[in-house]
Amino acid sequence: MRVFKFGGASVRDAASVRNVARIIREHHDTGPLVLVLSAMNKTTNALESLCRAFMEGSKGEMLRIYDDIRDRHFRIVEALFPSKGHPVYQSLQQSFYQLYYYITEAPGDNYNYEYDRIVSTGEMASTRILSAFLQEEGMPNQLFAAQKLIITDAHFRDARVDWIVTEQSIREQLMPHLRRTSGPGSSPPLVITQGFIGGTPQGFTTTLGREGSDYTAAILAYALRAEEVVIWKDVPGLLNADPKIMADSILLENISYQEAIELSYYGATIIHPKTLKPLLSRNIPLRVKSFTEPARAGSLIDGNDTSDHLVPSYIFKFKQVLVSIFPTDFSFIAERNLARIFADFARHGVRMNLMQNSAISFSACFDHDQIKTPALLRDLRKNFTVKYNTNLEMITVRHYHKACLANLLKGKEVLMEQKSRTTLQMVVQPAR
Ligand code: ASP
Ligand code: MG
Repeated sequence: MRVFKFGGASVRDAASVRNVARIIREHHDTGPLVLVLSAMNKTTNALESLCRAFMEGSKGEMLRIYDDIRDRHFRIVEALFPSKGHPVYQSLQQSFYQLYYYITEAPGDNYNYEYDRIVSTGEMASTRILSAFLQEEGMPNQLFAAQKLIITDAHFRDARVDWIVTEQSIREQLMPHLRRTSGPGSSPPLVITQGFIGGTPQGFTTTLGREGSDYTAAILAYALRAEEVVIWKDVPGLLNADPKIMADSILLENISYQEAIELSYYGATIIHPKTLKPLLSRNIPLRVKSFTEPARAGSLIDGNDTSDHLVPSYIFKFKQVLVSIFPTDFSFIAERNLARIFADFARHGVRMNLMQNSAISFSACFDHDQIKTPALLRDLRKNFTVKYNTNLEMITVRHYHKACLANLLKGKEVLMEQKSRTTLQMVVQPAR
């Protein structure tokens, strides 16, 4: 049994939905398949704006966004299902009616709760469309509501999975379908569910954090002890650098779970960071493949670490702040001062991307945030002298021994640097 995850870009229009169907037909001959689908391209962003307008009471704006999202979905459906009598029209209409009735009532005061209730419409709609289209194309399938599969706490917008209950509910609901033996000539069982969405035991809809569909695929694979997960993307696989930043980026053919965890920890954005640990714990390989070039092998993440060191990887973070903190008395930087500094960072929810200390100062680099940065600096200044630089870059190089650093740093000034055996991290002032 395998789990396939398709992201929003793979179902951006009617032609791409057809492409997904083609991929499934071509790859669905070796056993049962579980499909996890995101919302159609940009829908989640649009629903976020809708939610904001709803909460602010900007009714005109809200309805304009609503119409736009709804129309985009119906245009795709019209292109896929020429017969207006097809039941998919009604089922999609129902998703949008539910949203409409919801947003024409007054909002409650829990933003995150309302967010999950509204934003989840994207995945509810996309899965209805894909399920109906596959059916139409001769690929019978069963659609399951993720709210009843992935059981979470009520931490809306960033819900935490109850692993024990979730594993049980996934197995109870999906196994009877996945075990069904197919008749001669018919394809193996196929089930579909929404990525990114979960539900509380009381039945409230939650979400797992932006880009959380990868994580959904991993949760399902973990519970079902899948033999493999495939994430289908609009890139050929995992690359050693963001191709928008480094034109000559190359494909990582095979890296270990540990390496992938490290890369995503340092800021590589290709797979959702929470995805890897559940897979690692059950030794389930993860493939990242291109939905535009499905015949290519893509990248493989598994237990094999023998290739990890072969290719250096580059991760760039922009809008970095580097702060240096000095005790105001004659004390050195030691545990008491550090405890205070860490408490300030923790209280403001600011994660240090890199830190270093000397006898008289402590320096840390973090992502700039309009709200958090000034609040943190204000608090630090209560106990310390504080200096800082903004608009810096942080460059992380894994396996830097093989890297060409001269090119990377051309015209840039290195303000802070740290090395381990495998990882080099630098905070730099970009070339002006
Ligand atoms: N649709 C959600 C998002 O755009 C989840 C996902 O795509 O993984 O964040
Ligand atoms: Mg996405």
